[in-house]
Amino acid sequence: MNDFHVLVVEDHPAIRKQLEFMLTMKGFSVTSAENGLKALELMRQSHFQIVVTDWMMPEMDGIALTRAIRENPASGYVYILLLTAKSSKDDIVTGLQAGADDFLSKPYHPAELVARLNTAKRILGLEQCLKRANEETKILSITDALTGAYNRTYLNDRLPQEVKRAQKYSRSLSLILCDIDHFKKINDEFGHLAGDEALKAFVQSILSVIRVDCDWIARYGGDEFFIVLPETCPAGGGVAAERFAGIISGTSVEIAGKPIRMSASFGVTGFDQAPPGRNIAPDAMIALADASLYRAKRERRGSVKVEAWSEQTPTPAPASV
Ligand code: GH3
Ligand code: MG
Repeated sequence: MNDFHVLVVEDHPAIRKQLEFMLTMKGFSVTSAENGLKALELMRQSHFQIVVTDWMMPEMDGIALTRAIRENPASGYVYILLLTAKSSKDDIVTGLQAGADDFLSKPYHPAELVARLNTAKRILGLEQCLKRANEETKILSITDALTGAYNRTYLNDRLPQEVKRAQKYSRSLSLILCDIDHFKKINDEFGHLAGDEALKAFVQSILSVIRVDCDWIARYGGDEFFIVLPETCPAGGGVAAERFAGIISGTSVEIAGKPIRMSASFGVTGFDQAPPGRNIAPDAMIALADASLYRAKRERRGSVKVEAWSEQTPTPAPASV
């Protein structure tokens, strides 16, 4: 059994039945329609990877169907084979130019049709591999390779979107910048690999407590991470950061059988029901979170400082080129 869905489009009932039977016997999952219009209707409801279509049919012929499929591409590629009594070179050219991938003349040899559909399967399989590879590349391009958190590219892209969305709908948003305390000491005393393990453990601990469907964490650089909490006012962001601080101080990494304890400091900013029409610059929020983190570090490692965005928060000048 294979998982390729074939749509047979054929107005002649006996030929349609014969095709249905033969392709089902060969392991294809087959649906059929008696003309192009019916086929398009079925294709709106489900995805067919392969369409085997007759040319001459009432209401909508195979050429018009092929053009309609190519004009409105589905999310996945549709492989089209024209199976027709027409057989001249001009017909073949017309069929292929309309967007068909293959052309077979009737009367057809069943084994040849199956062989050609196996070619279709190979091509569709390659398309699926390519799609998967593209998806993986896209994920890698926004992920920090060491910790699995999002990277700075993602932060630069997503944070302005979060700010814009919160402003548009007058929603709240919190932004937390955190930095592991005395992280250099972990590297110096236990080695860089131990430091790497500590960074991974830090991210895992945060991921285990944030709301997976809307909160996210991105590595800003070194041992600094941003945690973004949509629908959360700055006071709520402060409470969350206190919770994270507690969790991190309870996180340890085992190196050579010995647990290494960690702590982190947190700078929080954000706004409650963003005022409409005001330009809230993501860079200004980053600068506020950074300033809060600096105050936390200075006062006591492991602490949390909150400073909400306000009308007085300066908008940073655009970077000069
Ligand atoms: P503080 O409490 O003031 O934050 O002190 P700190 O020692 O943590 O100082 P700082 O945040 O400036 O130190 C960051 C260190 O992180 C410096 C750098 O060597 C180390 N680092 C940056 N990236 C990596 C990494 O990918 N792996 C490891 N193991 N260390 C890293
Ligand atoms: Mg640090």
